[in-house]
Amino acid sequence: MKIGSDKTVLGGLLACVALLVFTALAGCVSTQPQEIPGDLPPLAAVEEIKPAPVPEAEPAPQPEAEPDPIVEAEPTRISLVAVGDNLLHMPIVNWCKTVDGYDFTPLYREVEKLVAEADLAFVNQESPLGGEGFAPSGYPMFNSPQQAGLALAATGFNVINHANNHGLDKGAKAVLATADFWREVPDVVYIGINRSEEERAEIRVVEAQGYRFAWLAYSYGTNGMPMAQSYLMNLIDKEAMAADIEQAQELADAVIVSLHWGNEYQFTPSREQRELAQFLADLGVALIIGHHPHVAQPLEWLEGKDDLPTLVMFSLGNFVSNQDRRNRMLEGMLSVVFFATENGLAIEECGVIPLVMHYERGYQNYCVYPLYAYSEDLAQRHYINQLDRQVSLGFFSGLAYDIWGEYCVIHNS
Ligand SMILES: [Zn+2]
Repeated sequence: MKIGSDKTVLGGLLACVALLVFTALAGCVSTQPQEIPGDLPPLAAVEEIKPAPVPEAEPAPQPEAEPDPIVEAEPTRISLVAVGDNLLHMPIVNWCKTVDGYDFTPLYREVEKLVAEADLAFVNQESPLGGEGFAPSGYPMFNSPQQAGLALAATGFNVINHANNHGLDKGAKAVLATADFWREVPDVVYIGINRSEEERAEIRVVEAQGYRFAWLAYSYGTNGMPMAQSYLMNLIDKEAMAADIEQAQELADAVIVSLHWGNEYQFTPSREQRELAQFLADLGVALIIGHHPHVAQPLEWLEGKDDLPTLVMFSLGNFVSNQDRRNRMLEGMLSVVFFATENGLAIEECGVIPLVMHYERGYQNYCVYPLYAYSEDLAQRHYINQLDRQVSLGFFSGLAYDIWGEYCVIHNS
């Protein structure tokens, strides 16, 4: 399966945005942590390209023509963003109810620009989207209205993962209905679940700016739910993963692996996570996108195959949730730029835009904010603050820097 990204026309805009986002990054390291809110120094101004002055015509011809200056082509940049678990607890579903259905788009309005501007935009959709015959439900056996999927697509997400521990919550029928649903949504690829053995064998490839990205996805388990057919969801299995990666490398310019893994509520990657990440790095995977622990974990480089680097985001944390602890409200949006080089694609820039999951008393006003757009006023109104658990901008920025350090992208440009 492949889709041609119609976002490629945004190339120029993206380059500009990426430049703004990453001007402060050098070799994937941002400038020193900045306090928020406050008067932030503007990022290095992008110099306006001015036309060269036109010399006045000389009366006499030049004896020799000046050689044309060599104009170096700008390298192709392909941008990617990734967020964690879209965990639609029932209070969120109820708040998104409208007179004649559901509208989940308000959840994403503050991050829509960041998502829409990226060539590749990944999200882990934690619950099945079973459609007709499956009522909406929350923890512990989730099913979410398909309008939630439409809102993700409308926001600009184009790679949707379903390999996670809730993917089988409503059995095989809901997995198949979820896949059928996504097949009708243009310019979106679903990963991690399959309708058949043939589909399991088919590597999902997404094209962006003429380059091909293979997306593989695996979950540590299914919360004990049986899988009637083994192809329904991809589970972590080194032998199968190695075979998939070998096939993916023949089809694509870069291989990206989504992993639903790790221990819940642990800020530090487990030994198993580290060991599996190195296994994938040794096979030449370019990027590992981790999720599931409900809290964030670090972003790191590993040395992989042929000494090439592999970037690992151990955990993005949640994306949307109704959880009730302040440290589960701090989440990451991984932001990566691939550059086309003579030797293929390479990740040249990366950072993490910290996000805050916000909601208020009465289970309302659910919305994900980039930390740079969040305010002390909103923090004070956060429902968790009213549960007597201290929520503040300082808490979120402190936690973000504890986890991601200099990779944090906190600015309001
Ligand atoms: Zn999970």
